[in-house]
Amino acid sequence: MTLTDTHTHLYSKEFHHDLDDVMSKAIEAGVTNLFLPAIDSETTEDMYALEKRFPENVRLMMGLHPCSVKPENYKHELDWVRKQLDERPFCAVGEIGIDLYWDKTTLGIQQEAFQTQIQWAKSMNLPINIHCRDAFDEIFEVLDKENDGNLSGIFHCFTGDLNQAHQAISYGLKLGIGGVVTFKNGKIDHFLSQIPIENIVLETDAPYLAPTPYRGKRNEPAYVALVAGKIAELYQLTIEEVAKITTKNAQNVYKF
Ligand SMILES: [Zn+2]
Repeated sequence: MTLTDTHTHLYSKEFHHDLDDVMSKAIEAGVTNLFLPAIDSETTEDMYALEKRFPENVRLMMGLHPCSVKPENYKHELDWVRKQLDERPFCAVGEIGIDLYWDKTTLGIQQEAFQTQIQWAKSMNLPINIHCRDAFDEIFEVLDKENDGNLSGIFHCFTGDLNQAHQAISYGLKLGIGGVVTFKNGKIDHFLSQIPIENIVLETDAPYLAPTPYRGKRNEPAYVALVAGKIAELYQLTIEEVAKITTKNAQNVYKF
């Protein structure tokens, strides 16, 4: 069984003390493909180091996270992202998007940074990895402007409703499903099986959002297997079928 974690912050300080154990556990659980989203220039070196340490399993994205879009330095940060994209290969531009949970005052520059990075992704034929928190309308507004048939990517940690799911898919995006689908009040489990499974990829967003029964604890890539188990239950498939289909879906996006 091969599982794919399409969004994991393996470079996060929560993993510094037991990284080898975390990796062995992931591989034992079948999670052999790990995709790391960038946050900002402060995470770049750690990402590169991880890629060197686990070249078989780890692949990198490059982008500026919406929570790191600040008036005083976002232009400089975007220049940094662009420089990395020009210098070496990445599997996607991400994570990018809009977050109005932590800061509403930066909406204007968040939209600007999001749109700019989408344009870079399209010009390089790369998929995008979208972070959306309390910002579906604002995200869709930007996607409508950039929707020219060349968009591809993943709506990471999708937590919207059925209509929002359909809209995300209409742009050519897949839904990144993680621990939330296992939560009692996570809501997406109520309608997810109405979405064809070809539009679903799995993720952890580790170290955040650990699935049941680890909710509230540190999340890690091995737990993708728990998400796959829940998806198998919802779609009435075996976990092996879910692993195969969702890994193929991820391959269609990230071209690995
Ligand atoms: Zn993330």
